[in-house]
Amino acid sequence: MTTVDNLNFAGKKALVRVDFNVPIDSKTSMITDDARIRATIPTLKKILNDGGACILMSHLGRPLKKLKEDGTVDIEKNTLKKTITTISELLGVSVKFAPDCIGTEALQMAAELKPGEVLLLENLRFYKEEEKGDEAFAGKLSKLGDIYVNDAFGTAHRAHASTSVIAKFFPEAKCFGYVMAKEIANADKVIKHAERPFTAITGGAKVSDKLLILENLIDKVDNLIIGGGMAYTFLKAQGYEVGSSLCEADRLDLCLALLKKATDRGVKMFLPEDSIVADAFSNDANSKECDNKHIDKGWMGLDIGPKAAAEFAAVIKNSKTILWNGPMGVFEMPKFENGTKTTAMAVAEATKNGAFSLIGGGDSAAAVAKFGFENNVSYVSTGGGALLEYFEGKTLPGIAAMLS
Ligand code: AMP
Repeated sequence: MTTVDNLNFAGKKALVRVDFNVPIDSKTSMITDDARIRATIPTLKKILNDGGACILMSHLGRPLKKLKEDGTVDIEKNTLKKTITTISELLGVSVKFAPDCIGTEALQMAAELKPGEVLLLENLRFYKEEEKGDEAFAGKLSKLGDIYVNDAFGTAHRAHASTSVIAKFFPEAKCFGYVMAKEIANADKVIKHAERPFTAITGGAKVSDKLLILENLIDKVDNLIIGGGMAYTFLKAQGYEVGSSLCEADRLDLCLALLKKATDRGVKMFLPEDSIVADAFSNDANSKECDNKHIDKGWMGLDIGPKAAAEFAAVIKNSKTILWNGPMGVFEMPKFENGTKTTAMAVAEATKNGAFSLIGGGDSAAAVAKFGFENNVSYVSTGGGALLEYFEGKTLPGIAAMLS
């Protein structure tokens, strides 16, 4: 794998695909979480310290999905200009801005860029050609730089113009940035070189998405823990009453097939024995502990119960490799945070005792951060959907294009 470490950028213009798709407060236009920008800074510093210049390209939101009433793109809402101050502050270099990502002005600004300087291009997704993976559009972008650097793991599962198609215009001058290299190395540590016992923990609410990953994970893991909103579809499939808990009724057969596959492979599957149930999806709802064999009508499981939390924690503490995607309950509400918190503590303890732990997917990362454990796990992925597809066993276009 070629990374920025393998190239010298002196006198070169690096066209860097970054993931600056950061959350922005619609009222104040302020960035509410700059983690994605922060993550890319070492890559950019390496290029600048070599004596190179950086031309940054990214998307922000989905501007073409929500046009203005007159049918045009809402530039003010979706402009990447809003990220300039943060990038400049974090990098310690004042960043120039090209009001279009292609065209004469962008070309001229890129041509005039001197070593040590940084130019940010306007939102790639103002053009439909970006998401379509249009070759001509990728060709126009490619004219802006000498070396293509891909550091956008968050979009590596998309065959877009700037993330994948563009690579062919740089047959001899392309590499991964540190974010990409680190994400791939850490994901591979789990999926390809796991020390045993290997435990995967899945939870959260996007049941059907995660069932796809389980299919592939069952071939790799020793233990599979299923909590959060995921669990109730499995419990229902086994014939239990789940009340008003989250449940995807059209996935029951798939759950049964996965349970059978796990048994056939000798994988230990852990479903929660009990839950904290509530009579409404609210922190103010009435709540109680409940055995998962029968949840009454009108009650919903919003957290794993204390018995489940203790059983899961014991399995986790005995593991050498841990992959965690999805919270064990509605951790955003204090009343239903305990299962996720106990799990986070167990992952931290296992890590302290030498296990490798990878936390993937936005919400698990947010949960680990909420309870103050982000520095007590081995790696927190920035990758959401891309990481999940990697774990499904798919070849990610953003990675494949760089290796061909
Ligand atoms: P995901 O994006 O699939 O990881 O889902 C994360 C979301 O799942 C979080 O916002 C949690 O509040 C939610 N969640 C976790 N457990 C449950 C549950 N038992 N019922 C409903 N939502 C849940």
